[in-house]
Amino acid sequence: MLVFKASEDIRVYFKSRRSSIGLVPTMGALHQGHISLVKKACKENKYVVVSIYINPTQFNDDKDLEKYPVDLTKDQKLLSPYSNQIIIYSPEHKDLYPKGTQSNSYNFGSISKYMEGAFRPGHFNGVATVVEALFKKIKPNRAYFGEKDFQQFQVIKALNKQKKLGVKLISCPIVREKDGLAMSSRNQQLTSEQRVAASEIYKSLQMISSNQIEKNFFKMKQFFIDRVERTQALKVEYFCIALDTDLIPRTKLESKRNYRVFVAVLAEKTRLIDTVELKRMDYF
Ligand code: AMP
Repeated sequence: MLVFKASEDIRVYFKSRRSSIGLVPTMGALHQGHISLVKKACKENKYVVVSIYINPTQFNDDKDLEKYPVDLTKDQKLLSPYSNQIIIYSPEHKDLYPKGTQSNSYNFGSISKYMEGAFRPGHFNGVATVVEALFKKIKPNRAYFGEKDFQQFQVIKALNKQKKLGVKLISCPIVREKDGLAMSSRNQQLTSEQRVAASEIYKSLQMISSNQIEKNFFKMKQFFIDRVERTQALKVEYFCIALDTDLIPRTKLESKRNYRVFVAVLAEKTRLIDTVELKRMDYF
C-alpha cells in the first residue's frame, strides 16, 4: 500500500494519473465506521486518499490529545483489502501547518456555536483549518464524512461554500456496534463497566427518536439522563434537540419540522457523542 508523508509526493503521483479522487479524512485508530466511508469512496472514485492525521488544533484538551489512540500498523491492515485504490497520507505537522499548528478563524454562524462548538471551544476552527488544508493539497473530487459528526459535516459544508473549495461532500450513515453504541476510536478507552453502560446511549436515543417518550423536550432530556446515568459510570454532558438546518437547540418543538437529537456523554475523561433524527411529530 502506498503511504505518503508529504502532500507534494501525492501531487506528483496524481499529476500523470488525473482521474477521480476521493478523500477520507481520519485521525487513525480505524474501525468499521471509517471503513464504511472508505468502501463508499472506493466505489465512487478511481483513487482514494485516506488521511491519517491527529489534528492538534481541534483538541481543546491536551490530555485528550495525548491519549488519543495510534496504531498505524493495524490501520494499514484494515485498509489492505482496498490497497489497489488507496493511498495513505500520514503527514508530519509541518506538511499541513507550514507556519505552525495554529487554527484559522472562521465564522459559521449558528451551526458551529452550540453543542460541540459550545463544549469544545476552538474545536470547529481547528477542524475547518485542517479540512481546508487537506482539500487544497489533495484536491479531491469528493470527500466522505460520517453522520456521527453531524455538526462537523454542516461546518465542512459551510467551509466548502465560503471558501469555494468545490469538493462534493458525502455524508455516510453511522456504523454501530452490535449493542448500538456508535463506533468510535475512543471506545477502546472505556473500562468494561463504562462500555456496558454506554450501550444505553443509543437504546435511549432510539426510544426518544421513535416518539415513545412524551413529546416534550424536558421529559425527553430527563429520560435520557436517568437511563444513561443509572449506573454512575457515565455522565451526560449535553442533550440537545435542534433543527437539522440551523443547529440551534430548541426546547419548544413544533410539528412538521426536522429535528435531530445530539448528545455528548462523559465516561470520566472519554467523550462519546451520538445523534439521531427525531421522527417527524406531525400530530400535535
Ligand atoms: P475521526 O477519525 O474520528 O476523526 O473520524 C473520521 C471520519 O470517520 C469522520 O468523518 C467521522 O464522522 C467518521 N466516523 C467516525 N466514526 C464513525 C461511525 N461510527 N460511523 C460512520 N462514520 C464514522
